[in-house]
Amino acid sequence: MKFFNDSMAMLENTALIERFISYTKIDTTSDGSSESCPSTKNQFDLANLLVKQLAELGLADAAVDENCYVTATLEGKGNDVVGLLAHLDTSSAAPGVDVKAIFHENYDGKPIKLKNDVIIDPATDDYLGLCVGDTVITSDGTTLLGADDKAGIAIIMSALEYYKANPDIPHPTIKVGFTPDEEIGRGHAKFPIEAFGADVAFTLDGGYTGEINVETFEAYSAFVTVNGVPTHPGMAKGKLVNALRFMAKFIDRLPAEISPECTEEREGFIHPYEISGDATSCKCHLILRDFEEEKVLGWGKIVKDLAASVEKEDPRLKVDVKIEFSYPNMHKFLKEKPEIAQRLGEAVRKSGIEAKLEPIRGGTDGSNLSRKGLPTPNIFAGGVNFHGPTEWVSTRAMGYSLCTVLNLMTLYAG
Ligand SMILES: [Zn+2]
Repeated sequence: MKFFNDSMAMLENTALIERFISYTKIDTTSDGSSESCPSTKNQFDLANLLVKQLAELGLADAAVDENCYVTATLEGKGNDVVGLLAHLDTSSAAPGVDVKAIFHENYDGKPIKLKNDVIIDPATDDYLGLCVGDTVITSDGTTLLGADDKAGIAIIMSALEYYKANPDIPHPTIKVGFTPDEEIGRGHAKFPIEAFGADVAFTLDGGYTGEINVETFEAYSAFVTVNGVPTHPGMAKGKLVNALRFMAKFIDRLPAEISPECTEEREGFIHPYEISGDATSCKCHLILRDFEEEKVLGWGKIVKDLAASVEKEDPRLKVDVKIEFSYPNMHKFLKEKPEIAQRLGEAVRKSGIEAKLEPIRGGTDGSNLSRKGLPTPNIFAGGVNFHGPTEWVSTRAMGYSLCTVLNLMTLYAG
């Protein structure tokens, strides 16, 4: 069996970087306030381009459905049908329009200075320090870059390009899937999982060289609503019950040490995330995260108990708490099929790099897809510092990701 471990050769023999840059120029920012699917129509611009390119690469069934899910099949050998997934949208946390990628060739290890006083400093950005001599790509500082997840899309497309140019390289039947609205947690929602027909799938969604993920947060939301008693403030003595004052008390009582800003690695948190309302009625959205379901449900109990303690302070006050499931820790499902993680680790090592099995302090489309019966771990696509103007990617890392995908497919072809 032939394996791939030359990242630079991958960059020379495919249009990986050109593809990536062309995808970053298409604005695909998703919008969590929109009810439609896709949440923004312009995700179709990238979807339609990809369908055309997939057809040119010989995937004759390439299509986009009415919800903006792109699917295509490359027939291959072996018993397994393997999915390769990436997401079309970018986060709304930073502008995604008019992205101008900047190449820092033969990177010299110094802080990278961009527009708007944006600085990416290897002193605080460990991975950047590892990229001396690489080509590092950033935005110009006014937008995000969109390596999350257009690097993943480009890597999948370049794997298909490589198979077209080298038909002797073994691979299983590959199902390609590009999903809308991952950044707003809906990438899995209308995924045509039955029609897709894969036995296992892999997202290419973020992470520096060698990082693979078979574990994500277990995620819930809490919605706390405080209803007070409104009156004219000029005649409010003894009558007004101000919802804002009681919401402030509730938030102040949340344990400070169980917050995103005070936790790391395998620690979970309670994070008051968004607040809206007025003196009459006020609502707070909190996100609850941990790697263990029991613990995250414990965070929900803390929220309920604190809400109840606030409600007790005034009999006229009404405080409601709703807890909603968001996504599961994919490990619950993947641990039943340990061969998937083993094979993925082997594919990384065959690329000549170390396999770093990291839990994601977040979720991917694979979290809910794994719950729905399609086991879907994540493979690094090279990008770092997502959702902001300091986002960057190393071309060498992208080349290694492509090596890993080709090696993984070789292993599945048997
Ligand atoms: Zn992503």
